[in-house]
Amino acid sequence: MTLRETQGSGVSVRTADAIRQESEHAAHNYHPLPVVVESGEGAWVTDVDGRRYLDCLAAYSAVNFGHGNPRLVEAAREQLGRITLTSRAFHNDRLAPFVAELAALCGKHMVLPMNTGAEAVETGIKVARAWGYRVKGLAADAANIVVMAGNFHGRTTTIISFSDDPDAHEDFGPYTPGFRMVPYGDSAAVAAAIDEETVAVLVEPIQGEAGILVPPADFLPEVRRITRERNVLLIADEIQSGLGRVGATFACDLVGVVPDLYLLGKALGGGIVPVSAVVGDSDVLGVIRPGQHGSTFGGNPLAAAVGLEVVRMLATGEPQARARLLGARLHERLASLVGRGVVALRGAGLWAGIDIDPSLATGREVCEALMRRGVLAKDTHGSTIRLAPPIVVEEADLDWAVDQLEAVLVELRG
Ligand SMILES: *Cc1c(COP(=O)(O)O)cnc(C)c1O
Repeated sequence: MTLRETQGSGVSVRTADAIRQESEHAAHNYHPLPVVVESGEGAWVTDVDGRRYLDCLAAYSAVNFGHGNPRLVEAAREQLGRITLTSRAFHNDRLAPFVAELAALCGKHMVLPMNTGAEAVETGIKVARAWGYRVKGLAADAANIVVMAGNFHGRTTTIISFSDDPDAHEDFGPYTPGFRMVPYGDSAAVAAAIDEETVAVLVEPIQGEAGILVPPADFLPEVRRITRERNVLLIADEIQSGLGRVGATFACDLVGVVPDLYLLGKALGGGIVPVSAVVGDSDVLGVIRPGQHGSTFGGNPLAAAVGLEVVRMLATGEPQARARLLGARLHERLASLVGRGVVALRGAGLWAGIDIDPSLATGREVCEALMRRGVLAKDTHGSTIRLAPPIVVEEADLDWAVDQLEAVLVELRG
């Protein structure tokens, strides 16, 4: 963003200065809204000029439990005073309870802790391939993995190799081979893509970055049936959809599906530290032996202490119930906007993808208008915006956010 643009939108000198300095020295791999956040509490953030905004993105669901969640901050603070990093050359006393309780939350036996979501995806790919060679008995380098069109699994070179989003993919080759893409939601295409050398199907149970796309209700159960029948692993990327967002622990729960591997991240770190994990049973995760995979920071005591507290909050079922209840409210309110500036609405729990009538405005323009009214949201793919406030949001605040969207649409429709 140039200075002229920031001045044109009537922002303060402090905000303009911060944006100009960031724009000059931070690589332009994002296009942020012109708001400079200084602090946050619960579902609200405050900018450098003291203006408050309802955070309806929640850092892409990494802040499911709210900014500065007292229980999570306390767990982090206590751990900061003890020890933060040991490396896994030694044991640390926070890792054992974290992995045991996370495995139990997932109904699985074993956890491989990492840091970012992309690392969890990379780890899942490595585990599936090693399982293919060591358990399924495939010839070296023969393994293939079935992935979905429209996927978003992160930004590493292997992951973007199988992205069909040109922005994510183009000019970053040569690409990692071994992936085949099928249309999302098409279980017959999944069945047709699987051959003797397929080790896994990698799927987001709900596609987040693609615009909160919910597949047909029989898709995942069918993929589960097919993968079981063909001795192929089902890997669910629940990095954004998991850990309470959809009104259940996992989006897979909504359709009664249990994958072989869960990929987790984002909210697992409570919005405080990056924490990710691959969770499965020992017949799969057990294929990784000492020295074959790792991370300097993965499983560190600070991450484990915060992750453990996140797991304990989810083990009560309360965040899931709240997301279910508030989500029903949100979707009911949003449904009244369909035909009044909204052309389509999707989602589950406290997670909504809203297609704005493209003749009215782009998603970006709607998000800018919402920002001026005190609501922070993020557009995706042209005219879609998504709402995903922290699960701790108050019902009245949620209603107010929908009121602001309604007002923006009324303005646009003239
Ligand atoms: C965000 C996301 C990732 C990548 O996580 P990072 O922590 O940004 O690397 C992977 N998969 C899904 C579904 C995501 O939403």
